[in-house]
Amino acid sequence: MSDFAQTVKQQADIVKVIEGYIRLRKAGAQNYSGLCPFHKEKSPSFSVHAVRQFYHCFGCQASGDVFSFVGKIENVGFPEAVRIVAGKCGIPLPKREFSSPEEAAGARQRARLLELHETATTFFEEQLRGPEGSVAREYLAGRGLTPEGIKAFRIGYSPDSFNALRDRLSGMADNETLRASGLFSSKEQGDGGQGPIYDRFRRRVMFPISNESGRVIAFTARTLDTGDKAGPKYVNSPETPLYSKGQVLFNLDKAKSSIRQHEFALLVEGQMDCISVFLRGIQNVIATSGTAFTEQQVAILRRHTSNVVVNFDPDAAGSNAAEKSIALLTEEGFTIKIVTLDGGLDPDRYIRERGVEAYTAAIKGSRRQSDYLIERARQMFPGASSEQKVKAMNYLLPHIRRMPEKLSRDQFAADAAQKLGIDSAVLREELRQAALKRRDHVELRTTALTEVERVLLRALAISDPENELSRRLAAEALAQQPTWFEHLGTYQALQSLSGRAARDPMDVVEDSAQRALLAEALLAETKPPEQAEVLSAIQEIQERAIENRQRDLRAQIAEAERRGDYADLALLTQQKLDLDRALRQLHNHKPPPS
Ligand SMILES: [Zn+2]
Repeated sequence: MSDFAQTVKQQADIVKVIEGYIRLRKAGAQNYSGLCPFHKEKSPSFSVHAVRQFYHCFGCQASGDVFSFVGKIENVGFPEAVRIVAGKCGIPLPKREFSSPEEAAGARQRARLLELHETATTFFEEQLRGPEGSVAREYLAGRGLTPEGIKAFRIGYSPDSFNALRDRLSGMADNETLRASGLFSSKEQGDGGQGPIYDRFRRRVMFPISNESGRVIAFTARTLDTGDKAGPKYVNSPETPLYSKGQVLFNLDKAKSSIRQHEFALLVEGQMDCISVFLRGIQNVIATSGTAFTEQQVAILRRHTSNVVVNFDPDAAGSNAAEKSIALLTEEGFTIKIVTLDGGLDPDRYIRERGVEAYTAAIKGSRRQSDYLIERARQMFPGASSEQKVKAMNYLLPHIRRMPEKLSRDQFAADAAQKLGIDSAVLREELRQAALKRRDHVELRTTALTEVERVLLRALAISDPENELSRRLAAEALAQQPTWFEHLGTYQALQSLSGRAARDPMDVVEDSAQRALLAEALLAETKPPEQAEVLSAIQEIQERAIENRQRDLRAQIAEAERRGDYADLALLTQQKLDLDRALRQLHNHKPPPS
């Protein structure tokens, strides 16, 4: 972390910054809680520690410092998060706040690329209004788009020219930046170098793709030609420093407030579907752009909702991408419902032909994911033969196992058995097993924190000077007698904390379950632990370790007796007596209870 970031972090009040995004209420001496902005919940499991300056969500395990919060909620990188927080705190930015010259150059380039895209968008809009745009205007009118709709989505037209856009933009940036924008193509030369650039999009309807702040970062371009010379129906911007296909959800910038309000997102495949549905008043709609969901997209969506209603195209290719997306969303704990429109229509045509009320009704009538999958299994493997039933079941089993909740799995398995007419005891048992097994998600708050662990975690995590002796006591005990601590649920966290340099305690514990326990210990804290508390915690750990060893020995002694191995028995008994004595001594030295 740069000096500037360090300064900003010291001056920023994480509570104030987070309160700018969500409502917090005081929950303890030094901590606040509220509804987590990163997952959907009804009772608050999101905590902010005013003194230790971190947040932690016990629901989705999101945690970090003020920069990670702002980075996550604004979907920006670290340097940008630092600038935003500095701005909020009124800390003037130094001329250049970058950790390296490359980073500075990268940021300058991205800013320039945004300008290029903005100008290109305006250019395409002008072209659509101009004389050459008439074919495109006709096409759009044919798709039911009004001038207002076209304006809202900034739809445009790229003229039939290899240099119209290049001429417009060439004064704005150097050749290298123009190439990096993805707005141009070039041919490889005989010597391996790249030839001059020319317009990538020609004679196409231009749909801008925006980032979450609503700035254009790429385009999808639809051809207006038919026949041999038409080329691909859709051409997209390539991956650029601004745009990565797997990290953008089309229309999220416009849809996000409606998604939060309605507490679900409507997911469609095509951009045209999305635009059409949105413009008719259903505003919580986003599109995947025809490919399966990526993990980054899931993470982005989760910040707004964990309920998704999916309305994909009924064709086979659509169903494959749909199933992959559904599988990923399921694994990530989303609640999913599936819309199937009758007549095999896509959302765009359905809403135009049947109206928004019929479409709203179809969304309301969406089926649970399990019902949809069972139905699909029956279609793929029709008939009542046991062979077909086994195939249908094998298709469903992975879907069942994927569900994080045991209750949903049970329900799904029971429904499948009933609807597929599975009467074989063996198959039923397989379904039951699928429902029983597989919980990849960590069950939260199952490892209750003991008082001893609370004391040790706090002793190791707090780096105040007045806590230094306590910290050292705990760290030394951990280093010298690691076996005493091994059985603790927080062993990993304790280890990482005792080895850390000056870093934030929440940063050094990587495992999310362990971090949750640490957060719990820190959030309950009012002051660092007293040295006496630490000493007695260590002593208790030692006692427990001895008791464990005693238990082991008792079992070994019983075993030696059974075997009649008296030499071994004598040895083990002696060890046990030593342990008994050690334990007695410990008890005698115990400080009187305060
Ligand atoms: Zn959360």
